Amino acid sequence: MEDSGKKIKIAINGGIGFGAKLNSKQLVTISKYLNEDEELELTTFQQLYIEIPEEKKENIIEEFQSVGLVCYPVGNFVKSLRTCNFCKGEEEEGMPIAKELNSRIAGKPVPFTLKVAYTGCPIGCGEPMLSDIGVMKIRDHYNLYVGGKAKGKDAEVGVLLMENLTPEQLYNTVEKIIAIYSEFGKKRETFYKFFKRIGRDYLIS
Ligand code: SF4
Repeated sequence: MEDSGKKIKIAINGGIGFGAKLNSKQLVTISKYLNEDEELELTTFQQLYIEIPEEKKENIIEEFQSVGLVCYPVGNFVKSLRTCNFCKGEEEEGMPIAKELNSRIAGKPVPFTLKVAYTGCPIGCGEPMLSDIGVMKIRDHYNLYVGGKAKGKDAEVGVLLMENLTPEQLYNTVEKIIAIYSEFGKKRETFYKFFKRIGRDYLIS
């Protein structure tokens, strides 16, 4: 697609479902906005980055959404939920809860890119322990981990902040943590550093 105007980068994926998949209609729609020499960037948090003409942004996002793609901002925002593949079934592994949590938090502005992971059982394929915020479904309730760090020689697993949460308690707690980080985190301070600085008591007080 030829276009000489200014471009902006957006993140897209196929939404939360069984595995991080795209169908052929979605791929065809995406390819309409790629020139032959352009590339899609696949990130580690189940998103694709694509550059689109800024002046047509609203229309293109509408077109993407019409084929079931979900669009998110790129930069210092809460990322879309990184999930496991829900191999044991939608209800049993809490997919509706993951979708609701994602719709409440993804795209919120924060001091530095925030990664939130969800996993439908304690096997933990969504790697919640290595994310800034991690959710693990255990039977009918949810455990919440914070402060994981996947990268670097000082990589660390997160700590258990709260356990046995109901869905409503989970949504409220995660939203509160993100609000505290947004308000009191320093510019470009990672959540990992922020959590080390303020401590767990501050998040659950
Ligand atoms: S975390 Fe559990 S439900 Fe999710 S894909 Fe892994 S084994 Fe399946």
